[in-house]
Amino acid sequence: MAYIICEPCVGVKDKACVEVCPVDCIHGKETDDMLYINPDECIDCGACEPVCPVTAIFIEEEVPDKWKSYVEKNKAYFKKPA
Ligand code: SF4
Ligand code: SF4
Repeated sequence: MAYIICEPCVGVKDKACVEVCPVDCIHGKETDDMLYINPDECIDCGACEPVCPVTAIFIEEEVPDKWKSYVEKNKAYFKKPA
């Protein structure tokens, strides 16, 4: 289980979540549209969820249906290229 960043982050990227994450598992490059949570490092503390100004962050099982694809997008971001 992990927290997932969904579509509302696209184009916002204010990094409020990064500031509060105790394990620094929220990442993204300057050229990325949004940030992503590394599911292997996230400790499910929930600190990031309330600070997001656009409600982009959900625990995996509560990701709204319309954004389910973001579960895989977050995971895929951290998979090393084959
Ligand atoms: S739930 Fe906690 S550990 Fe996971 S990304 Fe959010 S702040 Fe970081
Ligand atoms: S706080 Fe929300 S909008 Fe800001 S970078 Fe994090 S997920 Fe994106």
